Amino acid sequence: KSRFVSVVSHELKAPLAAIEGYLEVLLAGTVGEIPEKGRGMLERCRDRAASLQTLIKDLLNITRIEAQTVTRQIGLQDVPAVVANVVELLRANADPRGIRIVHETGQTVPPVPADKEDLERILTNLVSNAIKYNRDGGQVAIRYRVEADGLHVSVADTGIGIDPEFQDHLGKEFFRVRNAETSRISGTGLGLSIIKKLMEIYRGRLVVESTPGQGSTFTAVFPLNGRPAETA
Ligand code: ADP
Repeated sequence: KSRFVSVVSHELKAPLAAIEGYLEVLLAGTVGEIPEKGRGMLERCRDRAASLQTLIKDLLNITRIEAQTVTRQIGLQDVPAVVANVVELLRANADPRGIRIVHETGQTVPPVPADKEDLERILTNLVSNAIKYNRDGGQVAIRYRVEADGLHVSVADTGIGIDPEFQDHLGKEFFRVRNAETSRISGTGLGLSIIKKLMEIYRGRLVVESTPGQGSTFTAVFPLNGRPAETA
């Protein structure tokens, strides 16, 4: 199954990139003025193509993690530095909606043995969800805490929250909460399952606390002394 998904995803990437490229050219007006009605349609095509691109990227990530074909470079990582980069990149999603990102870096945070790209993937998924499922004018706070079982990195949002009945399903492949509030938010339902698989490799875990209507806190717990699992 993994191989099938991986081959199909690879085969979809090139034609999709071509479609996106031509749409950008059309929208840039290089080949002529586009009537207002047509512009909206082309913009919709571009957005949908971008969603497909995300789906393919997530599918490839999952199959790579499952097939254990990734070479990981484990080193001691400065998590706040990784988070600072992630936040910088994601500000483009937060700013237009007036969402404030607070990164609490006041304390000393011990380095975590991990592959930098894995860390980036985990934190990007968490922070981008905290923005995506937030309300306009809301807040995202990233905090650190050292406990006996490792470094706790929590990403708290003031968003729509998750009904208790759905919380157990989070992290299952393709699972998305479907209700009136999420219907306009696009996604693949693969982000959290990628995080869960990666956290297993680091012998860590992902903890979810959420109150519907008030917000959610996702905490990734990274052991500080252990070695990543053999698969790494
Ligand atoms: P995606 O966001 O692409 O749908 P994820 O695997 O990242 O996929 O998340 C799965 C589901 O969990 C989402 O569809 C959403 O319903 C819910 N979810 C994830 N993060 C949050 C959050 N911070 N606040 C509210 N709901 C969330």
